[in-house]
Parts: sequence; C-alpha cells; structure tokens
Amino acid sequence: MRKRGRKARCPYCHSDQTTARGYRKTEQMGLRPRRQCKSCGRGFTQPSRKPTTAR
Ligand SMILES: [Zn+2]
Repeated sequence: MRKRGRKARCPYCHSDQTTARGYRKTEQMGLRPRRQCKSCGRGFTQPSRKPTTAR
C-alpha cells in the first residue's frame, strides 16, 4: 500500500520539516491548510493544486 501523503516543503528554505498549524478559511479558496517550517520558523499556506471547475 502506498501512502498518499504529500510532503509539504517550505517555500523559503525548501525544507520538508514542516508542521501543520491548523487551517485557515478563505472565502475564495475555501479551507486551506496552514503550515509552519521548523527550520526557518516561517508560516505559509500550501497552494491548492486542485483544478478549478471550468465554467
Ligand atoms: Zn523554511
């Protein structure tokens, strides 16, 4: 069985030592996971990779 866990990388220092810091709700993009890098301590949100529904 393969795990589908996607490792979130820090966009600043590219470390994969990131930890989840809860979620942030945005009106435009819905619920987005907030993460914090353990290496540099910066917080960031993962960009959503979901294809937007075509109108
Ligand atoms: Zn970092």
